Amino acid sequence: MEEKLIAVMLDKAGFEYDVHSLVKAFFPECDVKVFVEGEKEVASTEGLPDISLRFEKDSILMGVVKVSEEKSDSRFHGFKIPIEDTMERAEVKNCLKQLIYTVLAEFCGRHLPWGTLTGIRPTKIPMTMLEEGKDEAEILSYMQDTYFISREKGELSIDIAKREKELLSTLHYEDGYSLYIGIPFCPTTCLYCSFTSYPIVSWKKRMEEYLKALEKEIAFTAEFYGHRILDTVYIGGGTPTTLEAEELDRLLGYLKEKLDFSHVKEFTVEAGRADSITREKLEVLKKWGVTRISVNPQTMHDKTLQLIGRRHTVEQVKEAYALAKEVGFENINMDLILGLPGEGAEEVAETIREVKQLAPDSLTAHSLAIKRGSRLYQWIEEHGISALNNTDETMEIAAGGAQEMDMVPYYLYRQKNMSGNFENVGYAKEGKFGIYNILIMEEKQTIIALGAGSITKRVYADGRIERCDNVKDVSLYIEKIDEMIERKRKLLS
Ligand code: SF4
Repeated sequence: MEEKLIAVMLDKAGFEYDVHSLVKAFFPECDVKVFVEGEKEVASTEGLPDISLRFEKDSILMGVVKVSEEKSDSRFHGFKIPIEDTMERAEVKNCLKQLIYTVLAEFCGRHLPWGTLTGIRPTKIPMTMLEEGKDEAEILSYMQDTYFISREKGELSIDIAKREKELLSTLHYEDGYSLYIGIPFCPTTCLYCSFTSYPIVSWKKRMEEYLKALEKEIAFTAEFYGHRILDTVYIGGGTPTTLEAEELDRLLGYLKEKLDFSHVKEFTVEAGRADSITREKLEVLKKWGVTRISVNPQTMHDKTLQLIGRRHTVEQVKEAYALAKEVGFENINMDLILGLPGEGAEEVAETIREVKQLAPDSLTAHSLAIKRGSRLYQWIEEHGISALNNTDETMEIAAGGAQEMDMVPYYLYRQKNMSGNFENVGYAKEGKFGIYNILIMEEKQTIIALGAGSITKRVYADGRIERCDNVKDVSLYIEKIDEMIERKRKLLS
């Protein structure tokens, strides 16, 4: 399938990323190319807009031509927005995005629920304003006027920011930290996967080496950060429960031996895939004090599970959930994906009905994200983007289902290229919120991350953030573990 192209000509460098993200939000099915000065090499595909953006002394001009082979059919529009010399870069960027948004909303005849906001952490804006003492009405009108966000999304993000602020108030920002451990292995690779994940079967023989490397990182953390308060621990991936029960026992035992868990508020392990869960493994997690786990169906339709390569059934999800309850877990999360191939409102409603019967403690509703490099990307090339169908209706069905299970929204993030340009929302019952999830989004506390492909973030008191990443390749990670540790030592010193 030939990809549709939109060409954008920009006469000033420095805004390519912002322009690209916003145009792409209007045309998720198209390849958007932003050229800076010079000649553009290609024109937009017929029927799509060819866009030019020019910075004048006191304004930005936007030209749009609807590309057509019949030249006489071409429509040209010129638009402008005033700017001033004294404006900071962020203000100029806002003006530029407002201009693009206004023109493309008219061109497409529709508005985007998140307006000009294309970043992954929209709740950071209301969170910062709440911390500055602004009231809700002021924040909402600022978000609507500046970013053209819909009232509904504005209210949702403020509601979540208020809850996050309260939940995070119990953490130790200055003298505490959180810990992430990545287990980048899965039983099979899901169609849409964009994470660091490798089939477990290829790595079983080298698990001893991987665990040794992790233990080295844990020992370093204890030596270097052991005097600080450990607030939350999250073991994710991949699928941590692809480890055998003895391997999990060894890892968690070592972790608890080396680090002080006396202040830990939340200890999560993603049990994720039903095809990796056994009673023995769940008992090991329970034995070492894991407080929160995920059993993620993504959908309650066998046909879709097969299509997305999960290789487990709905029945297995129900059995894994029942097993987790039997073993005594009282905080179980379930992840769903809305907009999966072949699924619309009816299928999502059915999934929600099934999930309600299980009654998990929290639910994370993701909008399918289309990542280049995932198998889904190739699937779309074969089947067309119209086979994916995420809508307001499916988002509302998930939100309504969560509400009926007595859950409230408590964290939110967006990804690039989401089906329907929506968001991912975490819902939970009172007292069952996933604090680590909020931390990742709001970036308020240092998170030390161990394992292949993980990223450590140091958050300074003034809000600055510095990162260092571990290599994604598992062999390299094992081989260069001392180097990974040295990078962390440097970052955290
Ligand atoms: S379970 Fe998650 S990490 Fe593993 S393959 Fe599927 S999407 Fe990727």
